[in-house]
Amino acid sequence: MPADKPPLYDTAIFAARAEVLDIVLDHVPQGIVVVGRDYRLLAFNKPIEPIFKLTPGTFAIGSDFRDIINTWARENGQDEAMRRRALAELDAPEPFSFELQQLVQGEPRWMVLTHTPLPGGGFVRTFTDITEHKHLLAQLLELSRTDALTGLLNRRTFFEAAENEVERASRYHRPLVLMSLDLDHFKQINDRYGHPTGDRVLQVFAETLTACLRQADRIGRVGGEEFAVLLPEQTLAQGAETALRILEMVRALAVLAPDDTPVYFTASIGLAEWAPGAGVAPLVSTADQALYQAKRDGRNCCRVADTA
Ligand code: GH3
Ligand code: MG
Ligand code: MG
Repeated sequence: MPADKPPLYDTAIFAARAEVLDIVLDHVPQGIVVVGRDYRLLAFNKPIEPIFKLTPGTFAIGSDFRDIINTWARENGQDEAMRRRALAELDAPEPFSFELQQLVQGEPRWMVLTHTPLPGGGFVRTFTDITEHKHLLAQLLELSRTDALTGLLNRRTFFEAAENEVERASRYHRPLVLMSLDLDHFKQINDRYGHPTGDRVLQVFAETLTACLRQADRIGRVGGEEFAVLLPEQTLAQGAETALRILEMVRALAVLAPDDTPVYFTASIGLAEWAPGAGVAPLVSTADQALYQAKRDGRNCCRVADTA
């Protein structure tokens, strides 16, 4: 008689399979738990521990998963509303998943939780740490919003911010001023001292703007050597004071050319006050007209549009 295939319930085969499954579970990048109908922890893998960093022994076969949630809420600084929500979600009849931020031993970490109910009760959950991914996304977002040379808002983001500020000024009947700035004879700086020195001037100018302005002001590099600033809650008179302060500070600054020659530079500024009912475009064009006037008046000065 030919040797039969070993039956499925052969204990050696079961043991081998369990061992392989353990290896698989412990070598995936997710934390996994299997919880029974009575909330008892039936299985968990090793990666779950570094994801939560709870007191060693918190994850133990047979523990009540509600106790684990209470420990997590206590040790990872979740508030009472979050703890209650986590307990209520244990009985969710449908699969769900969401992103969750938590403090793991004081450090903010992000993860994705998935919950899949099992037929007959209980559930499987996976926990994936996505903190690095979140950091990368934040960096990409920052890169897409800012100008690489100066770190200021780029043109697109600045005009988005302008739309929001005009909307806000309009809704709350608040004053808003736009400042248009352009470096004077900047082409000559490039021509005389080279492009890298020109770049350095742009950076120093951007730093000066940042130093002279408030946190709430939005500063953009809207062209090669053209900048724009939104001054929420400021009147024209206050904006003009700020502009004069910027010009004064810039006059005192120099960057060093490759041969260590100090390179002084100046800027011209035009100011306009937002008129109720107007959009961003007329505000920008009014500030630009004031800027051209400053250029015509000899540069290195500030002009205010006489609208208001
Ligand atoms: P005005 O006083 O009338 O504004 O004269 P200007 O020379 O500043 O103006 P113009 O528009 O003739 O020249 C601007 C120059 O800015 C030309 C361009 O090569 C330079 N530029 C634009 N972007 C950059 C940049 O990123 N780096 C450097 N170094 N130069 C730039
Ligand atoms: Mg210029
Ligand atoms: Mg220009």
